[in-house]
Amino acid sequence: MMPSVEILAVGTELLLGQLIDTNTAFIAQHLAESGIDVHATHIVGDNQKRIAAAIRDALERSDGVITTGGLGPTVDDLTKEAVCDALERGTELHEPSLHAMQEFFASIGREMRENNRKQAYVPRGSHVLHNLQGTAPGFIVESGNRFVVSMPGVPREMKPMFVEHVLPWLKKHFNVHETILTRVIHTVNVAESEIDYRISDIFSALENPKIAVLAYEGRCDVKVMAKAATQEEAQALIAPIQREIERRLEGHVFGHDGDTLESVIHTLLQKHRWRAAVAESCTGGRIAAALTAVPGSSKSFVGGIIAYDNDIKITELGVAPDLLARAGAVSEETVLAMAEGARTVLRADIALATTGIAGPDGGTPEKPVGLVWFGLSSAVHQAEVKNSPEPQAVSQVAVEKWERIQGGSVSRRVEFRGDRTAIQSRATTYALGLLWNHLARVLR
Ligand code: ATP
Repeated sequence: MMPSVEILAVGTELLLGQLIDTNTAFIAQHLAESGIDVHATHIVGDNQKRIAAAIRDALERSDGVITTGGLGPTVDDLTKEAVCDALERGTELHEPSLHAMQEFFASIGREMRENNRKQAYVPRGSHVLHNLQGTAPGFIVESGNRFVVSMPGVPREMKPMFVEHVLPWLKKHFNVHETILTRVIHTVNVAESEIDYRISDIFSALENPKIAVLAYEGRCDVKVMAKAATQEEAQALIAPIQREIERRLEGHVFGHDGDTLESVIHTLLQKHRWRAAVAESCTGGRIAAALTAVPGSSKSFVGGIIAYDNDIKITELGVAPDLLARAGAVSEETVLAMAEGARTVLRADIALATTGIAGPDGGTPEKPVGLVWFGLSSAVHQAEVKNSPEPQAVSQVAVEKWERIQGGSVSRRVEFRGDRTAIQSRATTYALGLLWNHLARVLR
C-alpha cells in the first residue's frame, strides 16, 4: 500500500471564501514530489466538534492527517483541542516552547498573557515543531499506526516548518527513498486534442514516467513525471520520452520548465542581435506588454505602435489609404502592410502586427467577431512557401483558417471564440507563438 495522507485546512475565513487556501496546495505539491499520496483535502471552520470529526474520519481512511490553522492564542483557535478529542488524549506543557515565548515577549517588552501560555501546551506525547517565525508551535502526534501533524495557518510560519521538519519526518516515517522529477514541455498553437492524438500511444503504454497534458489559454504543457531512487535515474527515464514527444510535436515546443514564450523569444532575438517591434490593433498593446515583462527586453524589443484608428495605420505605419479602403482594416493586406510599416518606421529586424474584431459588436458573416489577422515582416525569409493550409484547430477556441508564407512575410487568419477579453488574450498568445515559430525556423 502506498502511504497516504489527507490535508485539513482549518479556518472559517476559508469556508466563507474570504481567504484562498494556499497552504493545502503548497503541502500537496511537496507531498506529490516526495511520492506520498494525498487521498483527500478538506476545509473545516473554526469549530472543535467538526474539526475533531474530520480528523477521525480521515484517520479511518488514511495513514495520517496534516492540519494547518487554528493553533493561535484566540478563542477560535481550536485545532489542538480537536486533535486531543479525536485521539482521546490530554495536553501537556512543553517547557521549551513556554520559555521561548517568555523570552520573545520579554524581548519586545510586552507582558505574556494567559492565552499565550495556552499555546505552549501540546497533545500529550507530541513531537513538537518549533515555530521560528511565530509563537504557536506545531506538533506531530502518533496514535497506533496513525498520526496527526498540526501546523500554524500563517503561510510564512507553516512553510519552513513543513519543509524543514514535517517533510523529513514523513519521509522517514513512510520509508520513502524515492524522488519524483517533473519535466514540463511547453507548447503553443497546437490543440490539446491534437497533442493527445499524436502522443496517446506513449501516454497509455507508460506507468513511469507518467504523462499529463494541461491546457491553458492558447497553449498547452505536457508534463513528464518520473519516479526513481535518484534525480539522475529519474532524468534518465525522462530523456527518451521527452525526445519522442518533442519529435512528434515539432514546431510547437517552445521551451521547458521555467521558460515562457516571451523569455524564449528574447533569448532567440538576443542570440542573433535582432530587435523586434509590434503594430497592434485589436490586441491593444498586450503583445508589447508581454514582451516588456521580461527583464533585459530593451536589448531586443524596440517598441510598438498601437494603431487602433485607421488614421494611425495610415499616418504612423504608412498603410496606403486605398489599400485600407479596398481590403478593409481587418484583412491580410492591411496586417502585412502594418507589419512592414512597423519594421521600417521602428527600424526593427522583425515586426509583428495584429488586426481583428474583438467584439462584441462589429462582426459580419464574412468577418465574424473573433476574427484576427496576424502578420509578420521579417529580415530573413522562411525557406518554405505556403498558401492556405487546411483549416486547423489550434485549441478548443481557435481555428486557423488561412496561412501564407512568402519571402519574409507570414500571414495567418484565425477565428477565436470567447468574449472580448478572451479573444484579446488568446490572440496575444497566438501572436507570440507565431513570432517564436518564425524566429526558431530562421534563426537557428
Ligand atoms: P498563528 O496563531 O501562528 O498566527 P494560526 O494557526 O492561529 O496561526 P489561523 O488563525 O488559522 O492560524 O490563521 C492565521 C492566518 O493565516 C489567516 O488569517 C490567514 O491569513 C493565514 N492562513 C490560515 N490558513 C490558511 C490557508 N489554508 N491558506 C492560506 N493562508 C492561510
